[in-house]
Amino acid sequence: MNIHEYQAKSLLRSYGAPVSDGRVVLRAEEAKTAAGELDGPVWVVKAQIHAGGRGKGTFKEPEAGSAGGVRIAKSVSEAAEEAKHMLGRTLVTKQTGPAGKQVNRVYIEDGAGIDKEFYLALLVDRGTSRISFVCSTEGGMDIEEVAESTPEKILSFSVDPATGYQAFHGRRIAFMLELTGGAVKQCVKLMGTLYKMFLEKDMEMLEINPLILTTGGDLKCLDAKMGFDSNAVYRHADIAELRDVTEEDPKELEASKYDLNYIALDGEIGCMVNGAGLAMATMDIIKLYGSEPANFLDVGGGATKDKVTEAFKIITSDPQVKGILVNIFGGIMRCDVIAEGVVAAVKEVGLKVPLVVRLEGTNVEKGKDIINNSDVDVIAADNLKDGAEKIVKAVKG
Ligand code: ADP
Ligand code: MG
Repeated sequence: MNIHEYQAKSLLRSYGAPVSDGRVVLRAEEAKTAAGELDGPVWVVKAQIHAGGRGKGTFKEPEAGSAGGVRIAKSVSEAAEEAKHMLGRTLVTKQTGPAGKQVNRVYIEDGAGIDKEFYLALLVDRGTSRISFVCSTEGGMDIEEVAESTPEKILSFSVDPATGYQAFHGRRIAFMLELTGGAVKQCVKLMGTLYKMFLEKDMEMLEINPLILTTGGDLKCLDAKMGFDSNAVYRHADIAELRDVTEEDPKELEASKYDLNYIALDGEIGCMVNGAGLAMATMDIIKLYGSEPANFLDVGGGATKDKVTEAFKIITSDPQVKGILVNIFGGIMRCDVIAEGVVAAVKEVGLKVPLVVRLEGTNVEKGKDIINNSDVDVIAADNLKDGAEKIVKAVKG
């Protein structure tokens, strides 16, 4: 689960990490008052969307191409104008994809005097099964780009959970960033705070890009991106409250209501599968036969007819879907339940694309009977290979 920059900064503030003072604004009328509560003399107006690259992003119509989801204002009224200009418009950045994201909230904060910009992140490193720090002198930039062209400018190390964070970890970062004097001390303290937050709040990712050295020689978190382990959010009521469902894929949101493991993808073949492993294999074989999956969907073991019906409806609601492959290996999940769900869903929403069904396992004959005796137009498949070949052929012609 991701949160907005202003929410992340409020969390940082509550742990005593250095951030600028700021106000979130949801309606243009509130912008002037909000900006007026800040000191200035420079205000920064920042579009709040769950994507980075806002500074270099561009807005869509009207005035397509007008630049910047991060704008500097020299007066309160200018800040209010900028906020008004952003609210309700669609911002396209490198991370949003071409469709962009609608800006429903803006954050107005005090402008900082910047001497240097750094990159800093904490993340769960699957390689070492530990939490890793990643830092670089090249702040405000795409870290993937830095990793590609100048990998020597990135320092990364993991923290042994037995000892936890130690001052030497912080000093390593400080020296990499060529900090001196008081900033070294601030760095050691800040890194400890971030590590503590990361653990206590069950984060998956915490990115401060840029972390800055101000003209006054102090460290400050100028941007903040936080991702939390969705499976642990139930332990943190304060974090759960920060969820902004308008930032999520509506299909994924619908699926989560029915407790379906659904992830929207870019391809054209909708998949309904039971079991995460079989779902992965199904996606692989679709690719092998020259197409791309439109989603990952594991309906789980004990799915009911209603759950299957909802799952099917979510798949068919995706205009990208040009064909559907149902691939069920009935164990705990029974093939007749799947068949009933598919037939019920088709009855309710219709079927505008080819449908290949492969059923195997518990109650397979019963399942096939249900489908054969319905008037649903199905292409039957005998095994996974056969099913994948048939759906790709039906879609590609
Ligand atoms: P994004 O990563 O989405 O582009 P950032 O918050 O990193 O957004 O902002 C982009 C750039 O704008 C920063 O690298 C920094 O140079 C500048 N910036 C952001 N916030 C402030 C601020 N409060 N004061 C001064 N400059 C800022
Ligand atoms: Mg940034």
